Amino acid sequence: MNNITVLCNKCGKKLKTSGDIVHEDFIEINKAWGWFSKKDGQTHKCIICEECCEELEKTFVIPVKKEETVELV
Ligand SMILES: [Zn+2]
Repeated sequence: MNNITVLCNKCGKKLKTSGDIVHEDFIEINKAWGWFSKKDGQTHKCIICEECCEELEKTFVIPVKKEETVELV
């Protein structure tokens, strides 16, 4: 069984995987830029690991909004 490779675009860290399961949480950005952007017609994809996300959040002028995640059963 081949392990998938998931790399953080910001720090280059390889996330822990087994098979096609990623054992670390991360943010996946998949942005299709549109008409009102300078990148109309381009789709940008990147992965940000949890540590980089925390570093990024520290640079925010307005803090992130935190809510409890309600699990749908
Ligand atoms: Zn990272």
